[in-house]
Amino acid sequence: MLAAAGVEVLCCEARQRTGGRLLSLPVGEGALDLGSTWYWPGEERVARLVASEGIATFRQYRGGDVLEDRPGGPVRIPGDRIDVPAFRYARGAQSVAHALAALLPPHVLHLDTPVVAVESGGDGMTLTTQGGPVRADQVVVAVPPALAVATIAFTPGLPERLDRLARLTPVWMAETTKVVVRYPHPFWRDEGLSGTAFSLDGPLREIHDLSGPAGRPAALFGFARRPQGSPPIHDRRVTEQLIRLYGPAAGDPLQLVIHDWALERYTSPVGTPTSDAYQLFGHPLYAEPVFEGRLHWASTETAHEAAGHVEGALAGAERAVAAVLDRRLRHRASPASAT
Ligand SMILES: Cc1cc2nc3c(=O)[nH]c(=O)nc-3n(C[C@H](O)[C@H](O)[C@H](O)COP(=O)(O)OP(=O)(O)OC[C@H]3O[C@@H](n4cnc5c(N)ncnc54)[C@H](O)[C@@H]3O)c2cc1C
Repeated sequence: MLAAAGVEVLCCEARQRTGGRLLSLPVGEGALDLGSTWYWPGEERVARLVASEGIATFRQYRGGDVLEDRPGGPVRIPGDRIDVPAFRYARGAQSVAHALAALLPPHVLHLDTPVVAVESGGDGMTLTTQGGPVRADQVVVAVPPALAVATIAFTPGLPERLDRLARLTPVWMAETTKVVVRYPHPFWRDEGLSGTAFSLDGPLREIHDLSGPAGRPAALFGFARRPQGSPPIHDRRVTEQLIRLYGPAAGDPLQLVIHDWALERYTSPVGTPTSDAYQLFGHPLYAEPVFEGRLHWASTETAHEAAGHVEGALAGAERAVAAVLDRRLRHRASPASAT
């Protein structure tokens, strides 16, 4: 958005890839999402983006019954009235990030470039990266606030209220383990099941159909919660649970991937106690630039609407962009930078 507005931008991305919590495993023509999966009706920013960039989407499969795991065994609940209608990205959610990155002018995006310090002083900002210092007029911290304050040294320190707020604001889904299990065929659909199941017995709490358009690639995914310090989830425990729910065909997957977001150093502030203060999402302080109006917050956690979702990440970015442009209007134009 800033580059499109004619601002000179530099984007420092810590990972060797774009996407952050959007991570898709390519399978043939399709992909399986290890991070974000859906977007929902009414999320207009995402809808506009997929339309403008020609990103193929499809409806989440809901055509069957839901399973609920009870002490005597799984029970069928007629129809899938649990999942709300949702949309998926045919080539995976990460295709959204790829499309956005493709819009950037050459040399703007610097992968493998974590920012370790942000200093305000003199007539601008200095970012410290492994590649050396970067000077900027303004900085957008598009990093979950709790992760930013745990891993980036801000000089002078952030205002105390903002620092405390950032430390207490949870990182959405940072503690989630997503388990993706690929099969030759979506066999549960043949039995009139939507793929959705709820279970309290086994590593997966909530399971959904993750198949691509027309059921290819065929897959289920489950959310697991692994409290800090508990042992890693085992493939065998996953397949045992799936066999109990869906029958013997579930015991013969083509692929099983366990992705623990708590181990991702550029998502989850490692070693920091978990906060569940979700009411802090979109706190008004995140809309107030600091360091003489030169430092702005983006990231879904800072959004005043759809916080936690991709829609929220876009909303937070929109607000930060408006604030950067507003400051530029009020001051002499000079380069801006974003992490
Ligand atoms: C398992 C899972 C399932 C989800 N399901 C959904 C869903 O179905 N629908 C939905 O809408 N949302 C979902 N989400 C949430 C969604 O993924 C996020 O809302 C969205 O990706 C947030 O985007 P963001 O840009 O705010 O943050 P991020 O995606 O976290 O991006 C932050 C970026 O900053 C980089 N970074 C971190 N530290 C530094 C540093 N020091 N220097 C430079 N770069 C740095 C990171 O590498 C990353 O690329 C899910 C998330 C997870 C983990």
